[in-house]
Amino acid sequence: MGPEAQATTTDKSSSRVLVIGAGAAGLVAALELCREGLEVVVYEQLKEVGGVWIYSPEIESDPLGLDPRRNRVHSSMYQHLRTNLPREIMGYLDFPFLPLPKQGRDERRFPRHEEVNLYLRDFAEHNDILGLIELGVEVEYVGVLGGKDIALSDDRNLKWLVRSRKVGEVDQVREEVFDAVVICNGHYAEPKVVSIPGIERWPGFHMHSHNYRVPDPFKDKVVVIIGNANSGGDISKEVATVAKEVHISARTWPVEQQSVSEGGPRKNIWHHPLVERAYESGTVKFEDGKTAKAESIIQCTGYFYSFPFLDAQGLISVEDGRVAPLYKHLFVPSLGPSLSFVGLPSKVVPFPLFQAQMKWIAKLLSGKLTLPPPTVMMAEVEKFYQDIEAKGIPRYQTLKIGIHSYEYVDWLLEQCGEEPAESWRKEIYLTTGVNRRLRPDYRDCWQDQELLEIATASLRELAK
Ligand code: FAD
Repeated sequence: MGPEAQATTTDKSSSRVLVIGAGAAGLVAALELCREGLEVVVYEQLKEVGGVWIYSPEIESDPLGLDPRRNRVHSSMYQHLRTNLPREIMGYLDFPFLPLPKQGRDERRFPRHEEVNLYLRDFAEHNDILGLIELGVEVEYVGVLGGKDIALSDDRNLKWLVRSRKVGEVDQVREEVFDAVVICNGHYAEPKVVSIPGIERWPGFHMHSHNYRVPDPFKDKVVVIIGNANSGGDISKEVATVAKEVHISARTWPVEQQSVSEGGPRKNIWHHPLVERAYESGTVKFEDGKTAKAESIIQCTGYFYSFPFLDAQGLISVEDGRVAPLYKHLFVPSLGPSLSFVGLPSKVVPFPLFQAQMKWIAKLLSGKLTLPPPTVMMAEVEKFYQDIEAKGIPRYQTLKIGIHSYEYVDWLLEQCGEEPAESWRKEIYLTTGVNRRLRPDYRDCWQDQELLEIATASLRELAK
C-alpha cells in the first residue's frame, strides 16, 4: 500500500474518539460513533447539554463581543425566539420532533427555543448518551501527538494530544491521547462586526445580536439594525414593538426597497442601504445619503468560525468565512478522517445534516469506509473553490450551501448505503423559504398544510 492510500485508512481496533461540544452536533456525533462501536467521550464546557438552545439572560461584559478578556456567554438565544424552521424538518433524521401533548411543551409547528432544548434532552436520554458526556470540561488544546510535522511525514496513523480543564479549576489540566477528534464546537459564539467610520465618537449604545435578549432596553429609542438575515429580521420586528423607530441597514435590499417604510403594526421600520458613517452628534448616515439620529446600533452581522484550541500546524486556515481546505466540508485532506469539523455549512437544516455527516464520519473512523487519497481530495477541494470564484460567489459564502444542502445530505447518506432523505423534507424546506420571504407571520400561517400532513404521518410511523 502506497503512502497516499495509507493516509486514508484507520486503525479500527481500539479507536478512542473525542467529541468537542454537546450541542445538537455533538449529541448526534456521540450516537453515530457509538452505533459504529467506537469508544466515545464528549467534553462540554457548559453545565448542561444543548449548546445554543440553552437560553441564558446573561450577556457578555463587552456587548459587541470583541474584547478577548470579556466574560463569555455561548448562546445567542433571545428570550422570545421561535424556530425559523418547522419542527417536522428540523428534527434529526430518525428521531422525530413531533409535538408532545404534555404540560410544559410547546406544540406549535415553529416552537419556542425551550422546546428545542427539551427535544435535544429527549434525544440524548432516549439514545442513552448522557453517560458519555463530561460536563464543565473545556478543551484547551488539540494537536498532533509528538509534535510530528504532518506536512513532512508519510505516517498517517495520527494520534491527537488533547489538553482539557474542568471549568473553574485553573491548575487541573488533563492531558490525553485520542485516535480521532470530532469538532462540534458550534459557530455562533464569536461575533463578526462591521467597522463603521466615525463610530469611536458616536455617543450611543453599540452591540452585537449575540448579546440581544429582550427588546425592553430599546423602549422609545431610535435603533439602527445592521443586517437583515434571520437574526436581523427577527430582532428588528421585536424591537419595533417598543422602539420609536427602527432603521434596518442591509446590503441585500433591492434599490426600490431602500429607505422606505416596511409598515408593520406601528409603521416604524425603515429599510436602508449600508451605513456610511456615524457622527458625534448621534447621526448615522446611510449610503444613499439618508440619516437617522440613532441612540442604539445592533449589529446582526453574523459570526466567525473559530477553533481556538486547534494546533493544525498551518494546514488549515480560517479566513473570511472560509475554513480551508476541507474535503466535503469535513476533513483536511492531509489529515484524513481522524480530525473532522461537524456542522460548518450554513443556510441549511442543521440537525439532519449533522446526523448525515456523522454517519459518514463514524463509518470512516470504524474503517468500514475509506476516504480517497489526499491528492485526490485536495484536487477536488481546489476545483470547488475555483468553481465558486468563477461563479462570482464571495469567499465568505463558501460554506453557505442553502438550496444544495439536501443534495449534500443525500450524498452523505448514499456513502453510508442509506436511502436519501424523504422528498417531503425538501419540499417543506422550499415552501417554508418562500413563505418566510412573503409573510412576516410565516410561523403561524402557511400554505403547505398537505405536505405537513404527509410529513406528520411519515414521522408518526417512524416513531412507532
Ligand atoms: P452549538 O449548539 O453551539 O454547540 C456547541 C457546543 O460546544 C456548545 O455547547 C459549547 O459550549 C461547546 N464547546 C465549544 N467550545 C468548546 C470547548 N473548547 N470545549 C468544550 N466544549 C466546547 N437551527 C435550526 O435548525 N432552527 C432554528 O430555528 C435555528 N435558530 C437559530 C437561532 C439562533 C439565534 C442561532 C444562534 C442559531 C439557530 N439555529 C437554528 C442554528 C443552530 O445553531 C443549530 O441548530 C445547532 O443547534 C448548532 O449546534 P452545534 O452543536 O453545531 O453548536
